[in-house]
Amino acid sequence: MSDPENPKLVLPGDLLGTAEEFVPGRGTYEDNGKIYAALLGRTSVDSHDRAIRVEALHAIPHIEDGDDVYARVDEVKSAMVVVTVLTLSNGRRAVPGAPEGTIHISKAKDEYTESLSSEFSPGDVVIAKVIQSQPTIKLTTGPSNLGVVSARCQSCHGLLTMGGRELVCPRCGHREHRKAARLGEAAGGTDGRGPD
Ligand SMILES: [Zn+2]
Repeated sequence: MSDPENPKLVLPGDLLGTAEEFVPGRGTYEDNGKIYAALLGRTSVDSHDRAIRVEALHAIPHIEDGDDVYARVDEVKSAMVVVTVLTLSNGRRAVPGAPEGTIHISKAKDEYTESLSSEFSPGDVVIAKVIQSQPTIKLTTGPSNLGVVSARCQSCHGLLTMGGRELVCPRCGHREHRKAARLGEAAGGTDGRGPD
């Protein structure tokens, strides 16, 4: 068999090694002195106690109505913002395929939006809620906890300090405006890392 010290993808029932070589850890089972994968995942070996484990592969995240996602602004049009959906905000798991989404001008803020270009800029990262996931992804940044979380200065491309309604570039002092997310009001700050 190939070297189990190098992580590799295994299927349930795949032989990982012998009980002399390894201690069966999470995601494995021992049978007759041999250690097998109990689930689909990636192998890892603890160099201290020689425990071999299989870390389960997460199910491929798919987007559902009501999910909060991180997305990058690609284009700001007169009536909508075109974004690439990057990750689910919950656990920050990547959304495969980098699907395109849109934020319509009526969903950009809870109040009336006069001009999207004064609220968003290409390259901004937003946190947004999915209001429609099929057949196209439609997002809202209306609620106060949603909106731009990362933005760059249009003058010098430095990262803007987020926080207020008016953003000030710490490098060149340029002032910009965004529909910024009030992160303090965001629900669920438990970015809990799982056990080891
Ligand atoms: Zn600047």
